[in-house]
Amino acid sequence: MLEDTLELRQALIQHARKLTSAGLTRNTSGNLSHRVTGGFLVTPSGMDYDRLEPDDIVFVDFAGQATGRRLPSSEWHFHREILARRNDLAVVLHAHSPFATSLACLREGIPAFHYMVAVAGGADIRCAPYATFGTEELSHHAVAALDGRKACLLANHGLIALGTDFASAHKLAVEVETLAEMYWRARQIGRPVILDATEMAVVLEKFRSYGKQPELPA
Ligand code: 13P
Ligand code: ZN
Repeated sequence: MLEDTLELRQALIQHARKLTSAGLTRNTSGNLSHRVTGGFLVTPSGMDYDRLEPDDIVFVDFAGQATGRRLPSSEWHFHREILARRNDLAVVLHAHSPFATSLACLREGIPAFHYMVAVAGGADIRCAPYATFGTEELSHHAVAALDGRKACLLANHGLIALGTDFASAHKLAVEVETLAEMYWRARQIGRPVILDATEMAVVLEKFRSYGKQPELPA
């Protein structure tokens, strides 16, 4: 378990800025958190990531009590609820990335049009029902859509990606956005063929070992 340190606050700021440079977010939309002892660190509400200093990052405990000179992200409810329920994960990333959000505005998830949807942990990437931003209702919807998964879309809003660290959450968010873009493009030229449950079960099984390189001898 990481502690609330200057280094972690700096890493959080660096990865929040990476949301913009990777094209996952524009202006101040989106937010990012990391679990620490007793709660989590989260980006402040409505502040430009370029302007952020370590003291602008807010600590929030699992009772929802915030400590810091800034107001926490308006989405602290879902950061808290997800981190409280998912002990295996440390990072919650939320972005309004263009393709995933466009799809979410149709209130559609991403089906198994491509086997890579399995990176989020299941045979599709769900879209949580709509609720107003910053509400507990949205948090409950997000938690349900993330059940057994590491990513989901939020209707008329954006995406959430989870990770064990900043890098894995970022990589997953980029993958979800890429899948949304490919799905969108495929839908422009025809009707994508959806892989069936049997094939997706095979893919999910393969993903348990895929990409895990053996340790090199020292
Ligand atoms: P915050 O700036 O309060 O984090 O809000 C951005 C956002 O994406 C709300 O859903
Ligand atoms: Zn948002």
